[in-house]
Amino acid sequence: MSRVKWLSWILLAGGLAVIACDRDKDSTAQNTNVSASAPAIQPLNFPPDDGPLPSADGDRAMQYVKEIVKFGPRPLGSASHKKVEEYISTHLKGDQVEDDIFTADTPEGKFPVHNIIAKYPGTKDGIIIIASHYDTNYPLRNTSFVGANDGGSSSGLLLELANHLRGKQRDGYSVWLVWDDAEEAMKPDGSGGQPNEMPFSADSLYGITHLAEKWQADGTLKKVKAFILTDMIGDADLNVERETNSTPWLEDVVFEAATRLGYQSHFFARRLEVSDDHLPFLKRGVPSVDLIDFTYGYNVAYWHTTEDTIDKLSPRSLQIVGGVVLETLRILDKMDPLPPK
Ligand SMILES: [Zn+2]
Repeated sequence: MSRVKWLSWILLAGGLAVIACDRDKDSTAQNTNVSASAPAIQPLNFPPDDGPLPSADGDRAMQYVKEIVKFGPRPLGSASHKKVEEYISTHLKGDQVEDDIFTADTPEGKFPVHNIIAKYPGTKDGIIIIASHYDTNYPLRNTSFVGANDGGSSSGLLLELANHLRGKQRDGYSVWLVWDDAEEAMKPDGSGGQPNEMPFSADSLYGITHLAEKWQADGTLKKVKAFILTDMIGDADLNVERETNSTPWLEDVVFEAATRLGYQSHFFARRLEVSDDHLPFLKRGVPSVDLIDFTYGYNVAYWHTTEDTIDKLSPRSLQIVGGVVLETLRILDKMDPLPPK
């Protein structure tokens, strides 16, 4: 994932705000309004819970994650990156796939970027996007950093979600799975005060920004009803944040889905603002949610370190997030109309 602007955790039970550190002082951070109370939103009318509830195969998702991680570090421009592109595409054989390939001009030079989009058509007019980045941190390219959780977990989960969407006539919105590329900043993340650091907003999210711009230009974006981002969701100790940039009503749908499945204790105990792949869609008015668990190890001990390895993950966490995303889709399909943007 990208960056936490404010590592400000609100312990909801006690209403206690703990500001652990402020890593990013760019202007958007000033717009952050983290509060201990729930956002004021209209109560949603959820469709009846008429089952059967979906279930993702956590073991199969974990196998995909392991296979992705086995390729080693997959920074932009590397041979292993190319292999992961092929790995994902091979698993989507027979599906309707769009390859969005372009050259990104980054502070480290020009790099090929490859977004992979698998499209599963539905009967309703509109698209729901589920996304994950698959590249690994470029500044760590010469280390053993494999991003098992950061990029690996969600990319494997999306392959599992494809298994649930493939070959079925969806009685709902079209679903597009997006394995986006070049999410990671190319320079160190700006938190260390080094002279060669870039402002985060100018050096990240290359792939997903390209897609948002392209789909805005060709009119596709108007059809996108919701953007669901998954990132760092494999931690065995799963605690998905209520991410404060995200659209509150869409987070409420996610929480309803988690509650129906009995997984609500893994969701939204903390509030945290994260800069991530949902921002380009949010900025263009698309309801968006970032499903991310940023407490990885003690505090953020494993994030962007060589400790981000497969042994920290569990199939159960992939099963939980997979099930919640599938149930979120089922609820969105039946909510008519969806809340306004
Ligand atoms: Zn990252």
